[in-house]
Amino acid sequence: MSQQKLPGEAYRALEDIVGPEYITDDPAILESYSFVWGNEAIFGSRLAPFRPLAVVMPGSAEEVQAIVKACNRFKIKFKAHSTGFGQHALTAKEPFLAIDLRRLNRILLIDERNMIAVVEPYVSHAELFYECIKKGLRFNALGAGPSASVVASSACHDGTGFHSLSSHFDGKNLVGAEWVLPDGEIVRLGSMATDSGWFTADGPGLSLRAILRGRVGANGGLGIVTKVAVKLAPWYGPPKLNVRGEPPLYEVEIPENFRFYMVAFPSLDLLVEFLRLIEEEQIAFAAYKVPLGGVTFIQVTTDSNDKAWEKYKAKKETVERANYSAVVLLDAVSPKEIEVKEACFKEILKATGGEILTLDKQEESALLAQLLIGLGTFRESFRAGGSFSVGSFYDSSYDLLVKLIKVTEEKLLKYAKEGKIVFMPGECFLGPVGGQWCHLEQVYGYDAADLESVKATQEISFYVLATMLEQKFGLWGEGFISFDESIHNVAGPVCGNYHLKTRAIKRAFDPNLLSESTYYTSP
Ligand SMILES: Cc1cc2nc3c(=O)[nH]c(=O)nc-3n(C[C@H](O)[C@H](O)[C@H](O)COP(=O)(O)OP(=O)(O)OC[C@H]3O[C@@H](n4cnc5c(N)ncnc54)[C@H](O)[C@@H]3O)c2cc1C
Repeated sequence: MSQQKLPGEAYRALEDIVGPEYITDDPAILESYSFVWGNEAIFGSRLAPFRPLAVVMPGSAEEVQAIVKACNRFKIKFKAHSTGFGQHALTAKEPFLAIDLRRLNRILLIDERNMIAVVEPYVSHAELFYECIKKGLRFNALGAGPSASVVASSACHDGTGFHSLSSHFDGKNLVGAEWVLPDGEIVRLGSMATDSGWFTADGPGLSLRAILRGRVGANGGLGIVTKVAVKLAPWYGPPKLNVRGEPPLYEVEIPENFRFYMVAFPSLDLLVEFLRLIEEEQIAFAAYKVPLGGVTFIQVTTDSNDKAWEKYKAKKETVERANYSAVVLLDAVSPKEIEVKEACFKEILKATGGEILTLDKQEESALLAQLLIGLGTFRESFRAGGSFSVGSFYDSSYDLLVKLIKVTEEKLLKYAKEGKIVFMPGECFLGPVGGQWCHLEQVYGYDAADLESVKATQEISFYVLATMLEQKFGLWGEGFISFDESIHNVAGPVCGNYHLKTRAIKRAFDPNLLSESTYYTSP
């Protein structure tokens, strides 16, 4: 691993801004900022080929601004992260100053009347959820799990969650942001531009929100977001969740006037019809296809692969019936309302040929914990193979997604048969995102320590991308799936020349080209 250092003068300038406690270029600490899930798919190793130049931890938006200005003065590339989950946050084509935002960790406001929260980057989805339910409100539960940052998912990177059906997509929930541009200027979006409160991120004039995040976000390539305002949804449950058990096995009590079901269907088409009707009737808090089918409830209720295997054998019949299964949570303000919703749910289930699966208390409660706050996602995604990736991932209509699943599943099954990945028929997360689209992630496991397995993930990514372009599905995830410009250069011309537009935006907002943009665009 190679190590470049910040010039002494630049290091001292940054130290003057944050104080000596909050900056370091100690190789032992920098090493930990180079080890991250997903690196192997790009570098062939979990460690990036170089460490950051240094890590700096600002304590306020003003310090962030001063750091960005210093970077412009010394021509240093920089990239911020909130909780630093994926390789987009911590790796790049060349070394950069890592700006770790963990000291910006406050919930600044929960405005009950207008259903808006204002938070800083290190506030997690779980923290905001727990604080909001005290006031009869809630925010999304990101698929990435409870520790993911609200700022990252609403303003910088992706943003789909388990109850997006009723709490929507984080990128659309963004109603305001404080944004340090790559040259150090601070901009407040929408209504905050005129100091009239955090209620819309659009206008006056054209919407800067689209430039800040688009569909998948700029992934650190367009400055630093220091606050966001997000729209909240109503919560009809108690002010405190009754969570029991010990990590990683939790139990959550089903709130009064809520009903939880796991339902199975004979085919993908019927399952999709069920989800479509549930969305149309607007009766559910959440409804989505369980990512690993029956294996999901095994993974979330066991704490090792050995125990999962034992349980799989004992429950094989249910697991196989659950290949095309969904979880559904109904919520209501009164017994009368839940009765009506339940009757409607049962009608839809009957019309689509579904059956309710009988789960034990622990299984039901582990699935509910995942649905409400994202608990168990890591066990589910990482444990079988050691790491995970996705085949097709897209936001679109139900029909298009079913077609896409069918086109790409064959390829994934072929790799699974060769022992290179862990994947079973029907595996994918598929869930309606309220008022917008349906979200698909064809999740599979791979072994990060096995080069053949890692190579398979690269081949799958290219196959899916080529298929989506050739068969005119469109393109999604253009920023964070691309480590170099070759993908943009192929995809851009068949997708409205988006790559020319993002390059022009990058040049206009970042004249010195310092906000590290490997996972956004190259100017
Ligand atoms: C098991 C698993 C499941 C997942 N499932 C989902 C899912 O269902 N839905 C989903 O949306 N995502 C999913 N993801 C991806 C996930 O969204 C990201 O890994 C996660 O949102 C990143 O959150 P973070 O808070 O750690 O952000 P970070 O890793 O800190 O940042 C993500 C990106 O945004 C940039 N960024 C972060 N904060 C700022 C800031 N304040 N200013 C400027 N740029 C910033 C970073 O540079 C980086 O490029 C999953 C990941 C895992 C590991």
